[in-house]
Parts: sequence; C-alpha cells; structure tokens
Amino acid sequence: MIKSNIDTIRANFPILHQEVNGKPLVYFDNAATTQKPKQVIEALNQYYLKDNANIHRAAHTLASRATDYFENTRRTIQAFINANEPEECIFTKGVTESINLVAQTWGRANLNAGDEVIVTTMEHHSNIVPWQMICDEKGAKLRVVPINQNGELIMEAYEEMLSANTKLVACVWVSNALGTINPVEKIINLAHQVGAKVLLDGAQACSHLNVDVQKLDCDFLAISSHKLYGPTGVGVLYGKREVLETMPPYHGGGEMIKEVTFEKTTYNDIPYKFEAGTPNIGDVIAFRYALDYLTVLGKENVADYELQLLNYFVNGVNEINKQTNDAIKLIGAAKSKVAVQSFVIKNMHPFDVGMMLDAKGIAVRTGHHCTQPLMQFFELEGTIRVSFALYNTFSEIDTLLQALTSIAKYANR
Ligand code: PMP
Repeated sequence: MIKSNIDTIRANFPILHQEVNGKPLVYFDNAATTQKPKQVIEALNQYYLKDNANIHRAAHTLASRATDYFENTRRTIQAFINANEPEECIFTKGVTESINLVAQTWGRANLNAGDEVIVTTMEHHSNIVPWQMICDEKGAKLRVVPINQNGELIMEAYEEMLSANTKLVACVWVSNALGTINPVEKIINLAHQVGAKVLLDGAQACSHLNVDVQKLDCDFLAISSHKLYGPTGVGVLYGKREVLETMPPYHGGGEMIKEVTFEKTTYNDIPYKFEAGTPNIGDVIAFRYALDYLTVLGKENVADYELQLLNYFVNGVNEINKQTNDAIKLIGAAKSKVAVQSFVIKNMHPFDVGMMLDAKGIAVRTGHHCTQPLMQFFELEGTIRVSFALYNTFSEIDTLLQALTSIAKYANR
C-alpha cells in the first residue's frame, strides 16, 4: 500500500525534493526527527494567518476557534493512543519534559530513602538523568536492567530486581540507538505485581507501533510530536487519571489554578493543572494533522513497509561484508525491531563516515545518540545510525549501499 503510493506520499513532503551537496537529498535521520507533510505545515500557516489567539481565556471568536482546535488535538491524541479520556493527555514540550514532569511531581511526592527506580541499559539520557536527579535528592536508588549483545533486555535479571522497594519502572519502549522493541506488556505486568508504577518512553515507538495505553495498562507514556511527523516543541504526557490526580502540580502560573489569594492557591483539574502558561498553541494544532496523516496511511502498513526497507538494507550490508572482509559491523540484532540500524565500520570514525555520506547528500546520525551508557556497554564511542520512515525508498537505500561499499573497501584496504 505504501510502496505503490510512494510518489504521492513523497509529494506530501516538500523538504525531500532538494539537492544537498549537488546530490538529491536522502534523509535517513528519522529517529532524530521526522520530516513534516505539507498538511502539517499548512495547518501551522493557517493558524498564524487566520486563527492566532490565546486559548481558554477570552470570549472572542478567534480565541474560541483557537481553543477548539487546540482541544481537538487533545481528542485526536486520546484516540491515537486509546486513552480513556482526553483529560489524561497533558501537552508538554516533548518526551524530555514529560519525563521531567513525572520525576519532579510524582517522583518528589512518592520516592523516599531506600526506594528503587528501575531503568534499562538502553535508555536515552532523558530517561536516566531526571531519575538520577530525583533519586539523589530523595536518597532513592537507581537500578539498571542489563542487556545482551543483541541489544535485548535480560528479562530474568529484571524479574530478580523487582521487589517491594521498587516504586517505578521507567523504560524505553523502542530503543533509539538499536531499534529494539522491548516486551513492555510483560515489563508492566511484572512491575504491577510488586505495586510499582510504569512509565514508558514512547519517543521511538509511537510512529511505528500501535499504541493502546488501556490494553498496555502503563501508568505513564511520554510522546514527542516531532518524531511523529508533527512539529517540534510539542509532546504529550499520558497518565492514568487516578495517578495524575494524586500528583502535585509541576510549574506554577496561569491556567493551572482555580483560585489564587496571597494566603492560598487551589489548583485546576487535570490536564490544566499541569499546563501552566501559554502553551505552544500553533504547533499543538498542527500536530493533529500529523496524527491524522499517519492514521489514514495505517500504522501497520507503515511499519510493514519500513521493515521491508530495513531488511533490504541489512541484506545489502551482508553483501558488502562478503566483498570487504566484514568491514561493517551491525550493532543491535534484536529479534523484535523497528527500522533503526546502528553500525560501525572498521578503521573509520563514525563522524568521518557521516561526513562522507553527507557529501553524497545522505543524512545519517553519528555519535552516542544520547545513550552513553549503552555505548559503554558495547565499548564504542559511537555508531552510525540509519533510521527509515514512510517516505524512504528502496532506491535511496541503493544509494546508501553504494556509498557504503566504497567506504568499506577504503576501510579494508
Ligand atoms: N527518548 C528517546 C528514545 C528518544 O529517541 C528521544 C529523542 N532522541 C528522547 C527520549 C527525547 O525526546 P525529545 O528530545 O523530543 O524530548
């Protein structure tokens, strides 16, 4: 379905149709941020051309229009993740802010000396540092689930780690550096058996996998719009109503209050209790068009197509390796993966490979991918990472494989 419509799909992404360093752009840095369809760009333009007003606070027409559109996005994200009600979806700046919100509110209220927070070896820094900060403050302990050489969690070790001291499991659903899909249903189920809450970092999962927070039964899910074909600076924190209601507010200011006197302030209901100040109205409104875009294409179709691209790439690398004495080493070989692949090339620094590819118009990410502990596990300074999206093509992968063949031959000389 995606393959037969790829030209129409690509026509929706104006940015793809340009040359970089004299070559057609090949954009394989989708795990860092996805490109935006023109439906999203036009919605953003439309907002500033016709509808711009502050939301929730005024009686005039523009304000009520902007408020309606803003709240429409909340209902769309509710449906997208199958939350029980829109009020369980809080707008934030992105996954990073969503996780910090939970750490600073739920964490501050619930963690005590001797309590434990469990994360995994493959976390993004944004799901490590906020927990380190609050654990340090509270005298709680951060524990880390180990992984194997394929980049999969060692679930037996996780099970052994769980105890009555475990208060929270904060786990990445899909690894941004390896593409590993973690067995989150099992992780959540086991955590709940010891009474712990579970936060999922959904940054990389939500564009590839179906999300049903009620079925998963996670307590929190963190989402970034810009990884989902939407604008930057917008994210969502999903939380179960009964958990969100017990949490103290995050930022103080306008919108998050019911009544303020100098003696006492009472706080607003969820989600507004956690949305102090004027939010990123235009980008929230435009985000809805990205969610609709993905929903119309069908996430199963997208994921299926992306995995075909991934297999095509991995087979191509295996062929290059036959000619070059295994010059390319793939990092991350989990059985369950999305279309993200890290690799290194012998005798080559990842950054140099990135520059050589850029000279041919190919955009990839190099470095530690904000997962330094994971790189330490693999004893690497960094990797080269390609990540595929719904608008990528097999012929773009041919271009990449051709470039990698020359680099691998040069490395193996
Ligand atoms: N977690 C993962 C797995 C990610 O890939 C990213 C973005 N690279 C983040 C968290 C942070 O997301 P954001 O920068 O949108 O807050």
